[in-house]
Amino acid sequence: MTELPFSRPTDYEHFVTCEAPGEGCWFVFKGDQLLVEMGPLEAPSDDLRVRARPAWARLPLRKNHNWLGATALRTLYLGRLGAAHLWAAEVSPEADVPGGLAWAGLRSLFSVLDDSHFALAGRALQLIDWDRSHQFCGRCGSPTVSKSEERVRVCPACKLSAYPRVAPAVMALVRRENQLLLARSPHFPAGMYSALAGFVEPGESLEQCLAREVHEEVGVQISNTRYFASQSWPFPHSLMIAFVCDYESGELRPQPSEIEAANWFDVLQLPKLPSKISIARRLIDAVVVEMRGSK
Ligand SMILES: [Zn+2]
Repeated sequence: MTELPFSRPTDYEHFVTCEAPGEGCWFVFKGDQLLVEMGPLEAPSDDLRVRARPAWARLPLRKNHNWLGATALRTLYLGRLGAAHLWAAEVSPEADVPGGLAWAGLRSLFSVLDDSHFALAGRALQLIDWDRSHQFCGRCGSPTVSKSEERVRVCPACKLSAYPRVAPAVMALVRRENQLLLARSPHFPAGMYSALAGFVEPGESLEQCLAREVHEEVGVQISNTRYFASQSWPFPHSLMIAFVCDYESGELRPQPSEIEAANWFDVLQLPKLPSKISIARRLIDAVVVEMRGSK
């Protein structure tokens, strides 16, 4: 399997402070929109949430590490990619688009922006969101301060530390003979189905979470759980951990509030699936290849 989108680039080094600021690549966000130079929206998209992708896109490169000046609400140093310095910033919702640049959602830049920059944009988006959400102490309400040696915001009054958070979630692709169990949430684009997924609760293992989620969402029992792969997922800050498992028992009974529809699909007649940006699609594709090969 090729590297999953949002995987850390091999030549990326994480630093919190910049010793000698120089020319750098900038990840500037306004909400969840990234500032890029980009071509016309004419490339086809495999993502039902994205109508078309730009023909090309690249990050702004700037010699001055303070080029946004007072327009930045926050600026974070991300480290280096090879020799290039990387900076992330957030600007206010009213900020104008600098000349020659445009705002674009991250999903629309998948397979368009350089893979390393795309992955680091996912990291930048999460860190900007974390920094914005931890300006005040969650325990006593005092303003927090950042540290120069590690990525953390600390409360000077009560010493509580707030690190960037990651929410683990499991994904289950359930097999039964030549069929896959796929479901759709009410939030999905029309016609799209995917594997089941849910967040890990405090006090449970991944395997327990998997069994609970599948049973809660569609009422069936699973067995023979096999790990597939994991993916950082920056919408907003998850780690998706994907498994394949076998159907054991039970009738399909979708949970009304979570699942709009769930069905067993023949591996040769699958519905619309998620984009290749997500581990869900990689998981389904890999299992389909395996099942078709064994028929
Ligand atoms: Zn505090």
